[in-house]
Amino acid sequence: MKVEETNKQERSPIVVIMGHVDHGKTSLLDYIRKTNVIAKEAGGITQSIGAYEIMHNEKKITFIDTPGHEAFSKMRSRGATVADLAILVVAADDGVKPQTKEAIQTLKDTSTPFIVAINKIDKNNGDVERVKNDLLQSEVLLEGFGGNISFALISAKTGEGVSELLDLILLTAEVEGLTYALAVPAKGIVIEAKLDRQRGNEVMIVLKDGILKRGDEIFTETASGKVKILENFLGEQVEELMPSSPALVIGFENLPAVGEEFQTGTRPETDTSDIRKAIGRVPLKKVDKEKRLTLRLILKANVSGSLEALSDLVKKMSQDEVILEIMDEEVGDVTDGDVKLAITNGAVIFGFGTRLEKAAQVLADANSVRIHMTGVIYELLKFIEGEINNLKSPKPTGVLEVLAVFNQKSSKQLIGGKVTDGILRKGIYAVERGGDNIGMGRIVSLEQGKKEVTQVELGKECGIFFDSAVKIEVGDKLLAKPQV
Ligand code: GDP
Repeated sequence: MKVEETNKQERSPIVVIMGHVDHGKTSLLDYIRKTNVIAKEAGGITQSIGAYEIMHNEKKITFIDTPGHEAFSKMRSRGATVADLAILVVAADDGVKPQTKEAIQTLKDTSTPFIVAINKIDKNNGDVERVKNDLLQSEVLLEGFGGNISFALISAKTGEGVSELLDLILLTAEVEGLTYALAVPAKGIVIEAKLDRQRGNEVMIVLKDGILKRGDEIFTETASGKVKILENFLGEQVEELMPSSPALVIGFENLPAVGEEFQTGTRPETDTSDIRKAIGRVPLKKVDKEKRLTLRLILKANVSGSLEALSDLVKKMSQDEVILEIMDEEVGDVTDGDVKLAITNGAVIFGFGTRLEKAAQVLADANSVRIHMTGVIYELLKFIEGEINNLKSPKPTGVLEVLAVFNQKSSKQLIGGKVTDGILRKGIYAVERGGDNIGMGRIVSLEQGKKEVTQVELGKECGIFFDSAVKIEVGDKLLAKPQV
């Protein structure tokens, strides 16, 4: 569609790939990238931007490379908004599955045009007719089956049908009549944002309208700055980019959220409130403290997209018995500031794909603050579930069996023993003798091999100063008070 009279130019399509896990989204993205990207060097590209461009039949297509995990469904649905069209991948040997249905719903909700790619046709247990039937059940009406949704039979493994799929994308884009204007502020969508130690705030965007230039002022609803460095998806610095291009922008003063729209220029006066601060700091749930247990969390992540997805996930994990309350959520490393907040609120810290600063570790050890660091989503969920279970049926986190009593001149007694459960840290302990609870006391210091330590692991022997009115005897057990 040519519309010169309104100063509009044709632009190339931005495409997202959706579908159930293991149906071949990554394989398809990889195959297309391998065979069509004009790499800057023979070794190919190191792509870190979450999107890439290809040439097919002398026309450009931009692919968004969204993360595949379930926890990132929000980003996926945003992927559909940022995209002009989607490819719905369905494996021929598996048919329509829950995430296929979820994707169909998102595509319908966002009115995103899409093409179906029936994948894995190289496998001999594939059943294309069944997939078509499944799709019919989900109200996806394919061409020749009472509808007008195009489809291609492909193999992301052998590449069969992929070229035809790319033809279909260009055809659909033409029908959609995608255009951009020259004289508007440049506009687009943030697809990823992270803090890089050397380069500062790195913001990955896809440009949808206007021309983005180095030196432009730029803002989103929650962040602003100036385009100091502009890189194309090959990592090359450029002066300007045309619509449908993915790009990396350096120069934002703070990190925008994934899925936000950006625009060049300065934010209008009426819109100067620092929304981000407000979003990040507000405790998310008022809790009926009387009846329910509350697990307080501090979430840290390497990129805003992950943080947002995690935060959503955590909110969904609240149960009848235990409410999850996020005290703070931020992009960045785990710092001593986070640990201080955890101490004040009795919170547990979760770091996703981020680092634990040394000072934070030391402070946490000294105050028995629990920190879980991981880059794997399933592991993070396991940690959270562990904390929930711990709240529901608290177990002592450290048990010392007394093997020797060295000095008992005052209430501060020097005792030797072995850790028989959990981890021993400073703090309040119950004294158990012959199965009976006979009093309380406090471990005021811990020594291992004559050196003062902050904690002693399971199975290890140690010396402690135990401050208690109870005269400790060999064979007694010291049990940490459950942390509720
Ligand atoms: P995703 O979870 O949707 O990104 O799926 P992947 O691309 O990771 O693919 C899941 C599995 O299916 C991998 O083991 C792929 O090698 C395999 N696979 C993907 N596409 C094809 C295909 O066309 N044919 C065959 N035989 N295997 C495929």
